[in-house]
Amino acid sequence: VSTWSHVPAGPPDPILGVTEAFLRDKDSRKINLGVGAYRDENGKPYVLTSVQKAEELLTAEKLDKEYLPIAGLPSFTKAAAKLAYGAEQKHVQEGAVAVVQSISGTGALRIGGAFLARFYPHSKTIYLPVPSWGNHTPIFRDSGLEVKGYRYFDKGTVGLDFAGMKEDLKNMPEKSIVLLHACAHNPTGVDPTPEQWIEISDIIREKGHFPFFDMAYQGFASGSTVRDAFAVRHFVAAGHEIALSQSFAKNMGLYGERVGAFSVIAEDPEQKARIESQLKIVIRPMYSNPPLHGARIAGTILNRPELYTEWEQEVKGMADRIISMRERLYDNLVRLQTPGEWGHIKRQIGMFSFTGLTQPQTKALAEKAHIYMTADGRISMAGLNNGNIDYFSESVSKAVK
Ligand code: PLP
Repeated sequence: VSTWSHVPAGPPDPILGVTEAFLRDKDSRKINLGVGAYRDENGKPYVLTSVQKAEELLTAEKLDKEYLPIAGLPSFTKAAAKLAYGAEQKHVQEGAVAVVQSISGTGALRIGGAFLARFYPHSKTIYLPVPSWGNHTPIFRDSGLEVKGYRYFDKGTVGLDFAGMKEDLKNMPEKSIVLLHACAHNPTGVDPTPEQWIEISDIIREKGHFPFFDMAYQGFASGSTVRDAFAVRHFVAAGHEIALSQSFAKNMGLYGERVGAFSVIAEDPEQKARIESQLKIVIRPMYSNPPLHGARIAGTILNRPELYTEWEQEVKGMADRIISMRERLYDNLVRLQTPGEWGHIKRQIGMFSFTGLTQPQTKALAEKAHIYMTADGRISMAGLNNGNIDYFSESVSKAVK
């Protein structure tokens, strides 16, 4: 009998299952709104011009392929911290941000989870919004934290359950770890307003909670890297010591290159050095040191003013295309006299939208209209374009009627 005969088959990944069903469908009108990756106006993956130019510069330099340090490429991690917190920010200026390169956002969350499990001096429970990105729970569980939830989404309004969120933040034990999506909440597309963020920050301070921000979409949400960093920067300015996960998958289109950073706001450069030394001890036995190429690309873009400017315009271009699809979808649904209130489509932000479609409706859309999305009614707005938005709107309208 085989050593592995007792190993049960794991459940398939729900999002990859959507793509598989899409690939099997032979209808020419088919649309895949499951994947969380940007698509251009023609529905194709998009490589940014700033990325292509950075790669050309790097090729011309004929660099070697030696190992990076455990904490990654310093010119990249420094620039990543500046992008998140602001170049003028006090801790950035004083060298009091502990930062390491990570295997994209997922790796940053995993390093952060492991660091908190080892060194956070209070309860090792992390509270996630309900719902949250599906990978958060397994990442933090595998890091050694206990995972609980706080109210976030209101099905009734397809918006933020702000009262429920505040109540839960007030009722959880003092000094809890709270995971916050910095912008473009996945999967709902529902973010607090700046005024609401200020209130959340106050409650978290009063309760002594520790905020861990997941920023996977800086710039990609509103088109402005500064606006999307509002919550992170407000919390730091308000005196919170925060942890932060950054991903360059979406905003630079570097998905498969796995570029990210994990950082912690420290008291001073000496404490920063101690934290970094422990982050390296977390990283070393996991994968020794991070991959080189993507960090070089991101570092080149962030450090060269002309490429940085071009990149900012390209991020804005992606965000604007998504925002224009939200407007078209809303206008279409209203024009088609689709039952229900659809304002949330325009109010939500980022790549994803919780449409409010029910499971039977999403099933009907797949079977009758060849339109694929996750069963919770989440669509990736990036999968819509001028070529399919009308067909999509009409199909949704029919499914709801
Ligand atoms: N966090 C959130 C909220 C996300 O939506 C994603 C990607 O979908 C990630 C983190 C991490 O993605 P990656 O590991 O590709 O950077």
